[in-house]
Amino acid sequence: TKNIDDTSDINFYKYFQNGEFVSSRSGGGGGGGEELLTSTNVAYTVKNPATQEIIGHVPELTTDEFNCAVSLAEDAFQEWKLVPVSQRQRIMLEYQNKIRDNTEELAYLISLENGKTLADAKGDIFRGLEMVESATFLAPQLQGDSLQGIGTDMDCISYREPIGVCAGICAFNFPAMIPLWMIPLCVTAGNTMVLKPSEKTPGTSMLLASLLKDSGLPDGVLQIVHGGKGMVDKICTHPDIQAISFVGGNTAGEYVFNEGHRNGKRVQANLGAKNHAVILEDSNREQVVKAIAGAAFGAAGQRCMALSTLIFVGSTKEWIHDLVEDAKKLKVGAGLDITSDLGPVITPESKIRVENIITEAIEQGATLSLDGRGLVVDDCPNGNFIGPTILSQVKTDNVCHTEEIFGPVLVCLEADTLDDAMDIINNNPFGNGCALFTGSGSAARKFTHGINVGQIGINVPIPVPLPMFSFTGSRRSMKGDLNFYGKSGVQFYTKMKTVTSLWPSKDISFGTVNFPSDS
Ligand code: NAD
Repeated sequence: TKNIDDTSDINFYKYFQNGEFVSSRSGGGGGGGEELLTSTNVAYTVKNPATQEIIGHVPELTTDEFNCAVSLAEDAFQEWKLVPVSQRQRIMLEYQNKIRDNTEELAYLISLENGKTLADAKGDIFRGLEMVESATFLAPQLQGDSLQGIGTDMDCISYREPIGVCAGICAFNFPAMIPLWMIPLCVTAGNTMVLKPSEKTPGTSMLLASLLKDSGLPDGVLQIVHGGKGMVDKICTHPDIQAISFVGGNTAGEYVFNEGHRNGKRVQANLGAKNHAVILEDSNREQVVKAIAGAAFGAAGQRCMALSTLIFVGSTKEWIHDLVEDAKKLKVGAGLDITSDLGPVITPESKIRVENIITEAIEQGATLSLDGRGLVVDDCPNGNFIGPTILSQVKTDNVCHTEEIFGPVLVCLEADTLDDAMDIINNNPFGNGCALFTGSGSAARKFTHGINVGQIGINVPIPVPLPMFSFTGSRRSMKGDLNFYGKSGVQFYTKMKTVTSLWPSKDISFGTVNFPSDS
């Protein structure tokens, strides 16, 4: 692909600076050296999760390289903010065409680096594409307010202005959607952006950058930097970065939120999750079972909105047998094999972590209804595969319920009533998403109004809002006052300015030192 230097046997990821793909001189893995990367001093290695084959090596950029990226983004901002908004929108119009035309290549790259199936990778791209589409007509949302005659011969106008250089820090699990939650809205609003993809899946961001350049984005408006925690620290402390959009786990995200704020930046941080679905007896058994199998095990459970926890109310606990049968039918294999339903988890360490949680959960009293541990896929014996796993009769204090698992594991609890089920959800610290399956409007209404979770699905297993709304995770799943995308996202990437004008129609006197007491 364009972003990997294939002149040697080993591929080294470049970074994207001022419209060019550049090799880092971070010899020593970010130690500030001056040498080009070699296979012995790389910071991170990207491996195909289905095979462990090395795809490429990722540098940790030097401080100079990072500072240069921010300074170029700051220079670009001075010109970009003056470009008419319709012209900025037109670049997005071209960009959405380019993304559509390159969907196959993007999907291949996502599947290669992340492991998800090609079909799911296309969903990842499509969800991002919708963000680009919404940015093609952003101008109405960028409008401020005005009111004439707020005093004698006095009018007031408010403008929404861009804020400057913004940073994006991304998780590995949606290599296209997450950068596209950030870039289109940020730059169409007139800002410039320094984006750090996950060091586990950096290739998609590089291809997205190349397509955006080809769509007409001026050099410097988007910079892509590479690295891990060291790069995150540089982002959090750089004085010229005004705002940080973060997507990832709680450890990193809460750190970024605190560090970013300590350094005077706006921060929006979408974090970890534990999403519950409640099943009532009046719901459609067949449809519910199908919806849950897909929502729990798709993308090997590595979705922040995966339905990882199920609460059976009353006699629905017997439906577990159908669920187990459905889950057994799912084919686990390499994402690039089009017959696979779910791929591997991201790293061997993730596989060990998930399998250890399953084992510990059983020791703590959970019933193992389906065991996916130790799975070996014939064509890919070295892959990080875990089969769909179902733990049932789980108590709320079991480790599999208190921790985010982020693997193909469905945790099942039981409750006597809807109220009991709602208590379980409201007592869980996370607030990303939840769902209710029911045929009753009044149960749905009770759930909607009584649940303290930011995104609710009624007979919808993964209720991710479209771009005209905002992604409204809450409690431990979101830190910050302004959510990602939608109206809230526009507010995040803009600041208000008000202009109060007096054009007197007759001579007036400014002769008083007192604050006005009438208009
Ligand atoms: P992660 O927190 O490990 O990494 C996210 C980013 O933070 C990466 O760019 C990484 O380089 C950086 N990072 C990692 N460790 C760090 C540290 N100690 N200090 C500072 N920065 C650090 O997350 P991940 O494994 O890439 O992604 C999975 C997590 O992301 C899950 O918890 C999932 O729920 C969450 N997620 C949330 C949403 C959402 O919208 N709520 C969406 C996608 C993923």
